[in-house]
Parts: sequence; structure tokens; C-alpha cells
Amino acid sequence: MTIIAANWKMHKTRKDARAYLEAFARQDKGSADIIFFVPYTVLDVFTDAGYTFGAENFHPEEKGAFTGEISLPMLRELGCTHVLAGHSERRHLFGEDDRLINRKVLAGLGQGFHVVLCVGEQLKEHEAGKTWDVVRTQLERGLDQVKDADRLMIAYEPVWAIGTGRCSQPADAEQVQKRIKTWLAERFSKQVPVLYGGSAKPDNGKDLLAQEHVDGFLVGGASLDPEQFAALCRL
Ligand code: PEP
Repeated sequence: MTIIAANWKMHKTRKDARAYLEAFARQDKGSADIIFFVPYTVLDVFTDAGYTFGAENFHPEEKGAFTGEISLPMLRELGCTHVLAGHSERRHLFGEDDRLINRKVLAGLGQGFHVVLCVGEQLKEHEAGKTWDVVRTQLERGLDQVKDADRLMIAYEPVWAIGTGRCSQPADAEQVQKRIKTWLAERFSKQVPVLYGGSAKPDNGKDLLAQEHVDGFLVGGASLDPEQFAALCRL
């Protein structure tokens, strides 16, 4: 089944989140598997809302002197089942490196969470023809010592396409997604879902989803509007 995941980033108060869920509930959402990645402060609004949901970030340690951080046991208590790791904004705005991202992936999977590892090249790497080198390195390092991919998903998100309105051409995304899926199948001997992320919208989503190796989307901007997000879920 198609997986459509929302990433709200630093958007929506609790009041906004409640209003969104009311509006979203009125929409036909098709048959997609829907996941909401939302800010910590609205997680408990989702606790009894009937949707799969998760956190956009977390600390890999279970507890300790880490002022301002949130642990996986704290998330589990709110009903979170999913976490994001390696989102480009965490990598590039907050300096998260592959080592930290790998600790998060291992901690998330080890504690029974579903983990979406985000990978993707920056514009200059894209233009220099280094996309696969960058993505493969992020996969190798981010998944170091991961033995069981049962609860793993990958989101291929070209950084130049995130929040820019400049979506990848379906054939270009397909080429990278195919390599990712082939790499994962060799590494884990099983199929791991690979989502596409980067300015996915209802009007460009159909062509992307038609690609053989695109299993769904991770959606930022278009997930903030319940009608638009529901339209993506219906594709
Ligand atoms: C994202 O932040 O993961 C993302 C894909 O954002 P957008 O859809 O806005 O490009």
C-alpha cells in the first residue's frame, strides 16, 4: 500500500492541530497508509485521534543530563510509534552528522519504533553528478550495524527539492529510488519501503507514484493543509 507521511516541521499550535484533525477527518483519504510526524507539543493531540503518528526528532539516549531533549520512552508514553532520523534540516541546520543519525536509527529500531531515515543530496552535489555517492554514503553510515530492517523506511529527499517547489522529475527520482531499493535488498535481503520527499503535491504526485520504486511520500508543505494532504493520500 502507498505510504503517505506528513512532516509538519515547526508548524501548528495545539489549537491548529485540533482544527486540522477535524477537517482531515471529513476528507476521503483513499486507502493510503498515513503517518503524521508532528511537533512534540501536539503529539498528545494525536494520541487518541486514530492515526499513526511520530516525532520529528529525539535523543538516542533513554535518559540523562541532556537539557531540552526528548527520549524514546517519553515518546512511547504518548503513543508514538514512528520517528524521523536524518532529515536534511536536522543535518544542515542543526549540524547532525551520520554518526549521530546512526545512533538515532539504532536506538529507534532497538526500542521498537518504526524509523524513517532521510537521505538526499544537496544542489551542488546534484549538479556535480554525485547524487548516488552521497546517498550511498548516507545509507552506509546511517544504517551501520543495523541488522533487522523490519521497521525501517527510507525517504529519498533531494535537498534542493525540499520546500522549494522544485520537485524532482519522476524519472530522475525513480533512478535514485531504484538504486536505493536495490542497495537495501542486497544489504537486508528484504524489501524496505522507499518514500520520495521534496515538494510533492497533489498535482505532481500521480506521476511520481506511477514510478515502480516510489512507495509513497514524505510531505512537508502540502501536509499542512488538510484538503491538500488528503488529496495526496487519495492518489
Ligand atoms: C520535508 O520536509 O520532508 C519535505 C519533503 O518538505 P516539502 O514537501 O515542503 O518539500
